[in-house]
Amino acid sequence: MTTTEAWLWPVLLGVLGLVFGSFIATVALRWPEGRSPLKGRSACDSCGKGLKAHELVPVASFVLQRGRCRGCGGAIHPSHLLTELAGLAIGATSGWVAPGAEGMAGAVFGWLLLALAALDLAAFWLPNALTGALAGAGLAAGAVGVGVPLEARAIGGVAGYGVLWAVSAGYRALRRRQGLGGGDPKLFGAIGFWLGWQALPMVLLAACLIGLAAVLGLRSAGRKLVATDRLPFGVMLGAAGFAVWVGMYV
Ligand SMILES: [Zn+2]
Repeated sequence: MTTTEAWLWPVLLGVLGLVFGSFIATVALRWPEGRSPLKGRSACDSCGKGLKAHELVPVASFVLQRGRCRGCGGAIHPSHLLTELAGLAIGATSGWVAPGAEGMAGAVFGWLLLALAALDLAAFWLPNALTGALAGAGLAAGAVGVGVPLEARAIGGVAGYGVLWAVSAGYRALRRRQGLGGGDPKLFGAIGFWLGWQALPMVLLAACLIGLAAVLGLRSAGRKLVATDRLPFGVMLGAAGFAVWVGMYV
């Protein structure tokens, strides 16, 4: 691989990540309200004014407009900027640690996890359509011989779902209340379809550590957890899943 190629991948996937991140932010804001992110053009979340092409440039538009809509002056939801930057980071990192087909696959893995994390954070919701797409894409990558072998992925998918489902059912029986969301076992299974069964204990450990850090961080900042004592575990599983994928290449 030439030096140019080595640079090309992180730049290309980083730019793609900005575009996908922008789309994912809109999905996370609209889908839980039952509005289609695909129908209707991009519009201000406050006043509904349609956005022109130059107002749709990820990150740059937000910075140039100082986070406000040109029409009504309403604040642009900061999740737009954060999700765009996360998409950029996922794409650039994937292209950097694994230039070529494996990096492209890793970026798709990361962006799908980002979409799931954004929806879980916004609405405690991990849509089956998205976890299903994540699982299917993982199997497809294995089937064409990119990354982790297919057999390890197949076992990982079934084992991941099974283990978290059992934990969730056990908790429900013991404490008589819901601990994990219904989508969490499906997400863990889908991550297994990407990373293989060998990686799953590490993903679970990392997810718990991220969760613990989030709780301690919020506590020391004197803030209560958003409205309930629930944590969006899908966010931690997603972050841990992508981190473990990166760890396979560095
Ligand atoms: Zn507006």
